[in-house]
Formats: sequence, structure tokens, C-alpha cells
Amino acid sequence: MATTRDYYEILGLTKEASTEDIKKTYRKLALKYHPDRNKNPGAEEKFKEISEAYAVLSDTEKRAQYDRFGHAGINNQYSAEDIFRGADFSGFGDIFEMFFGGGRRGGPMGPRRGSDLQYDLYVTFEEAAFGGRKDVEIPRTERCTACSGTGAKAGTSPKRCPTCGGAGQVRTTRTTLGMQFVSSTTCSTCHGRGQVIESPCPTCSGAGRVRSKRTIAVNVPAGADSGMTLKLSGEGDAGEPGAPSGDLYVVVHVMKHKYFKRVDYDIISELSISFTQAALGADVMVDTLYGQVKMNIPSGTQTHSVFRLKDKGIQRLQGFGKGDQLVRVIIKTPTKLTQEQKELLRQFEYLSNGKKPDAEGKGKGEKTKRSKGLFEKVKDALEG
Ligand SMILES: [Zn+2]
Ligand SMILES: [Zn+2]
Repeated sequence: MATTRDYYEILGLTKEASTEDIKKTYRKLALKYHPDRNKNPGAEEKFKEISEAYAVLSDTEKRAQYDRFGHAGINNQYSAEDIFRGADFSGFGDIFEMFFGGGRRGGPMGPRRGSDLQYDLYVTFEEAAFGGRKDVEIPRTERCTACSGTGAKAGTSPKRCPTCGGAGQVRTTRTTLGMQFVSSTTCSTCHGRGQVIESPCPTCSGAGRVRSKRTIAVNVPAGADSGMTLKLSGEGDAGEPGAPSGDLYVVVHVMKHKYFKRVDYDIISELSISFTQAALGADVMVDTLYGQVKMNIPSGTQTHSVFRLKDKGIQRLQGFGKGDQLVRVIIKTPTKLTQEQKELLRQFEYLSNGKKPDAEGKGKGEKTKRSKGLFEKVKDALEG
């Protein structure tokens, strides 16, 4: 769409604004900038901008999409017409007419538009982060190329329906109890098309459309996340002769990553370090989306400390910049120690508190067992 400014900013509202606030503010601004009332240069542009912001923010679904993905989320899913369609502009004239200059769709009697299709696209964590082209195979209805969609065998053409004379409708008059009833019904000879095919196209059996599988390139924007819907206009099912095709909606699903999790544009990961690294400090290598980087662990680091690697997160859909990578450090207690290591640790313990630890580490305490199930229970209780 036209504007790249933040919709809330345009209306002078915050993200917490209620639908009622949005309506009220729009009314106020629309009265001020409506081109019928305001002849200043720039007023019409301003009016269009506030109308666009209002059209998006007054629609729950569009607003949610915008809050999550910004302008990219709106532009990928809705055409300019779709943005304004359905918004309540009552009192401000035909906004649709003003922006798109008439030419609204034909009536319900015309040939039918093709169906919209939905495709679930599964991408890897990296594909979503970096974006790129994905070829997808879509089963859909397409115009028959053998007959150019007319349904008539090559060299022939459809004829005007002799029953309805091409109107697609027939009028019937009934006389009941001395009163005349006139009704229009769909012509049963041509099923409302107004044309009949004498020699049907052998490829499509006269339907003008055929089922086929089409490979379509989908551009996944860098920073895409699960739930994002990409709209490919006109890539749905073919319409009836003379009517446009439907649209294709590609819903993005991001697959789980082995090490990385994602929260908005930040990447969350874990890193195991030894207790000596934690105590003394160390430089350690960390896997990021952009390869390994060296990260400094300061001395005296506690387990579960979180370190931020700036700009190692995911490219933001709206605007510039990237998220960060948040690395949670886990200190591993060594499980296999040599006699020499054990001796050094005993010395360390002795230097720390002056007491000689029991040689085998077996005190007189109560015997206990570790349990994975208990881990979750305690973790939920302590952290939840
Ligand atoms: Zn055909
Ligand atoms: Zn007919």
C-alpha cells in the first residue's frame, strides 16, 4: 500500500487503543482532511493515509496481522482493494470509489470467479530467517489450453442457447386462481451460461477448465514466522470463462530447529560450559545462524545466566535490523574424573572451607535417587 508510516502513529494512537478509540479518532481526522472539505494541497494524501490506517486497525484480523508482522504482513496478504473492503466508512462517501475509481465487480449473475486456494508451506528455521524462493506444486483448476477455455472443440465455437436466447434465464408464467405469476429461473438447457456447446472439447469435456498441477514460485520474506500468510493474486483456481481466477494463500509453517528456538526476532539457545570455565572465565565458541562466534564468559558465571549476542537474531520483517541471540549457559558437573583430578578438587575444597571432604563423597545423609519426572515438576514450581 501507499504508506510506510506506522498506522498507530498516523492516527496518533498507541497499540493499546480500543476499536472505539480508533473509530472516534478516524472520524475526527476524516472530517478535518476529507477532500470535499479541505482543499489544501496534501489533504487528499493525508486523507488516504488515515483511511488506510483506519481500514487496517478497525479490522480485528488485519490489525492482528499488522501487530505481528507490520506492513509486510498486510502487504503480503491483502491487495489494496482487500485492505479497504469491509471497513466501515459510513458518512464519508464511497471511499472505495474514490481510491479505486469505480469498476466494482460484476453482479452475482455473471460468470463465477475461481475459488481461492490455501497451501501449507513448511520451511526450515533457516529458510524462514533468511527468506528465499520456494517452488511449490499446487493442484488447481486451470483454463483448458486446447479450447482456450471456451469448452468447444477446436475449430468450433459455443452457440447461443436456443432455449433462452443467450439470457441464461427463462421467464415462466403461471396462472393460479386467476392470478398471473411470473418468475425467472435459470435456463436448464445452458445452466445459466447463455451458450451451448455442440461439439465439446475432448480435453476438458466441454468444461473449459482442467485439473492440473502447477509449480509456483513463492517468495518467502526474510524474517517470516509461522502463521504468516502470503497472498498470490490470481494463482487460485481458474474462473468460469470471462471471470478472474481465485487467489492462492500460502500459510507459512516454520519447522523446529535442533538447537535454536525463536521468540519474535530473537533466537534462544543453550550452551554447556564446564564449572572451571564458569569459575575462571573463558572464551567459548557459540553456534549462531551466521556461523560460529566467540563469546566471552566472565569469571564467576552462574548456571542459567543469559548472555546477549547482539544482531545475531533474525532479520526483522518491518524496517531494518535484526533481533539478538540469547544464550543460556548451563554449567556441567563433570561425571568422569581421574584420580589426579579428584585429588585436585579435594585440595580445592579444602582451600575453600578448610574441611577435608569424604574420600568417596559418601556422607551420612539420607540416600536419594534422581528422577527426570521430578525435574519438570520442581522446575515448573520454581520458574512458572
Ligand atoms: Zn477444452
Ligand atoms: Zn439457455
